[in-house]
Amino acid sequence: MNDPRTLHADKIIDGKAFAEGLRERIGTAVGKLKDEHGLMPGLSVVLVGDDPASQVYVRNKGKAAEAAGITATDHRLDETTSQAELLALIDQLNNDPAVHGILVQLPVPDQIDPNAVIDAIAPAKDVDGFHVINTGRLATGQMTGPDAAMVPCTPLGCRMLLEDRLGDLSGLDAVVLGRSNIVGKPMATLLTQASCTVTVAHSRTRDLADVCRRADILVAAVGRPQMVAGDWIKPGAAVIDVGINRIAAPTEDDPDKMRLVGDVDFDSAIEVAGAITPVPGGVGPMTIACLLANTVTAACHQNGIEPPAF
Ligand code: NDP
Repeated sequence: MNDPRTLHADKIIDGKAFAEGLRERIGTAVGKLKDEHGLMPGLSVVLVGDDPASQVYVRNKGKAAEAAGITATDHRLDETTSQAELLALIDQLNNDPAVHGILVQLPVPDQIDPNAVIDAIAPAKDVDGFHVINTGRLATGQMTGPDAAMVPCTPLGCRMLLEDRLGDLSGLDAVVLGRSNIVGKPMATLLTQASCTVTVAHSRTRDLADVCRRADILVAAVGRPQMVAGDWIKPGAAVIDVGINRIAAPTEDDPDKMRLVGDVDFDSAIEVAGAITPVPGGVGPMTIACLLANTVTAACHQNGIEPPAF
C-alpha cells in the first residue's frame, strides 16, 4: 500500500502525542502547586444552549482538566438565557477566588453579544485570551510577569509544535492563511515575536498559491476543506493545518458517513512538505492542552507564584 501516512511517517507532526506529553507536564505542575502552595487551579466552562458540537467540546475540556488535576466546573445555561443573566454569572465567577480560568463556549445564541461576554471576563481569568487587554498585551509583546498576555490556545499550540520540530524559528518566512481574531491574527503575532518574517494572507490576497509557496512555515486557518494543495507548498516547508472541516465520505454501508479534513490537502501536501500536522491528531489536541496550561498559568499569576514553563 502506498499510504502517504506510512510512506512519510517521519514528516508527520504528531500533535496528539505532543499534547499528551504536555498534559502530563501540566498534571505534574498542578500536583506541585497543591503540595507546595495548597493551590488548586480551577477552570469554569460556561455553555449557553444545547449545540451538540459545543456540548462535546465542553465535555472534553472538563474531562481533560480533571485528568490534569484541575478542578473543572460546568455551567450549562438555557438557550433562552439573556445577556444580563450570563453577565451576572461571569461577574460571580470573576469574584470567586477558587476559579482561575473562565471560558464561555462560543458561539452564543443571537440574543447575546459575544464581544460583551468577552469584555466581561476578568483579563486575568481569560484563559481563551480573547479579551482586548490580552490581545493588546500580546500585540505589544507583554509576555512575562503577572500582567503577561493570556495567549489564545490554538495559535499557542501551533507555535509549540513548530518550535518542537524546527527549534529556532528566527529568520524563517512564515505565511499565515487566515486573519481571524482567534487564530490568524494571534498566530501572526506569535510568529513575529519568534522573529519570523510574516505574511498574513486572506480572501482578498492576490496569487494566493504563489504567496504560500514562499513560506518556510505555512499555517492554514481558513475553514475551507483541503484548499491548500501540494503545489502551493515550498519543498521542505513546515505546514500547520488548523482547519477542522466535516466532509461527506459515503461508503456502501453508510451513505451518510462524514469525515474530518483540514484546510490542507494532506495527501498531496505531505509529498512536498518537510513536516505537516494531520487532521485529526494535529492542532486540535494542542488547543485543549494549551487551555489547561493557560489555566495553570492564570492560577499562578493570581496567587503571586511564578508559573511553570511548559
Ligand atoms: P474564520 O472564518 O473566522 O476566518 C477564516 C479566515 O480565512 C478569514 O480571514 C478569511 O478571510 C480567510 N479565508 C476564507 N476563505 C478564504 C479563501 N478562499 N482564500 C483565502 N482566505 C480565505 O475562521 P477561524 O480562524 O475561526 O477558523 C479557521 C479554521 O480553523 C476553521 O476550519 C476552524 O474550524 C478551525 N479551527 C480549529 C481549531 C482547532 O482547535 N484546531 C480552533 C479554531 C478554529 P477574510 O478575513 O478575508 O474573510
